[in-house]
Amino acid sequence: LSGGVGVDRVPGLGHSGGGSTLLGYIGIDTIIEQMRKKTMKAGFDFNIMIVGHSGLGKSTLVNTLFKSQVSRWSSGWGGEHKIPKTVEIKAVSHVIEEGGVKMKLTVIDTPGFGDQINNENCWDPISKYINEQYEKFLKEEVNIARKKRIPDTRVHCCLYFISPTGHSLRQLDIEFMKHLSRVVNIIPVIAKSDTMTPDEKNEFKHRVRKELETYGIEYYPQNEFDDDMEDKNENDKIREAMPFAVVGSDKEYQVNGKRVLGRKTAWGVVEVENPNHCEFALLRDFLIRSHLQDLKEVTHNIHYETYRARRLNDNGGLHPISVNNTQESNL
Ligand code: GDP
Ligand code: MG
Repeated sequence: LSGGVGVDRVPGLGHSGGGSTLLGYIGIDTIIEQMRKKTMKAGFDFNIMIVGHSGLGKSTLVNTLFKSQVSRWSSGWGGEHKIPKTVEIKAVSHVIEEGGVKMKLTVIDTPGFGDQINNENCWDPISKYINEQYEKFLKEEVNIARKKRIPDTRVHCCLYFISPTGHSLRQLDIEFMKHLSRVVNIIPVIAKSDTMTPDEKNEFKHRVRKELETYGIEYYPQNEFDDDMEDKNENDKIREAMPFAVVGSDKEYQVNGKRVLGRKTAWGVVEVENPNHCEFALLRDFLIRSHLQDLKEVTHNIHYETYRARRLNDNGGLHPISVNNTQESNL
């Protein structure tokens, strides 16, 4: 049990303390270690979608989130400035490994969103994509010969980029989040927040929160899915701090003798990871270090379950879904 790298250690397997004093140690707590080993071996999928109009720094932020690990994508991304005529869906996968744990990360980009003069229903292709992944998973589940592990392409999290206007949400922001919050975990973020002063930023955040409430938009972590009081207290703090005002960058600068990711301005370097400069670190900790597993669970237990129930209902109860899809025969 030595040499854990950057991962929270399982609290010691030392079995002091209360509990089984009469008969001695049983070993129930080793389940944690057993699970850890299995997870290490199997790895896991994490699928994140990014939505917002072009130029808001979506590609840059994803590169910032996953560090140099994904930087080799950046040439294909963000470099091109051609605006597609409709919303495109582009999924790129990459295996990232840290501390012996493998994550298959898929980033689903949606270039073209919000870039048209008429953006009516431009969330349609996005919601279609999300539902198609649920359908795929369902098909695998109802298969008689099920795979031991169903590949998970379901969108666990949708980062929605709000333009740092300082005014209010746009109609499109509201419509998108309203429609999609029922099918996917939406995390709104304020893009390029270095373009606002701290006061403007706080006021804007406040206004956005109020608007989201007014329109009844349930973003992640949703109130109703808090497990218990502890969960609720923790999530309340996060909800009160949302939407995170972020800054992205893939350039390093030397600040006080340390190399940091940042954006150089005429007044100095805006440090991406410095909580006094922006809320990137908050978002990263929340998304990856504290809530990643929960994002996956809410996707499976709530969003997918809703889809599944509706789909099986439409289909007349428990009959398996018609297997007219020959291309997916994997028997
Ligand atoms: P995308 O179209 O949403 O994927 O945006 P990109 O990531 O391609 O970024 C568009 C431009 O905005 C690039 O020139 C980036 O360097 C710049 N940019 C990205 N993130 C930020 C940020 O947080 N603040 C500022 N000021 N500029 C940013
Ligand atoms: Mg991009």
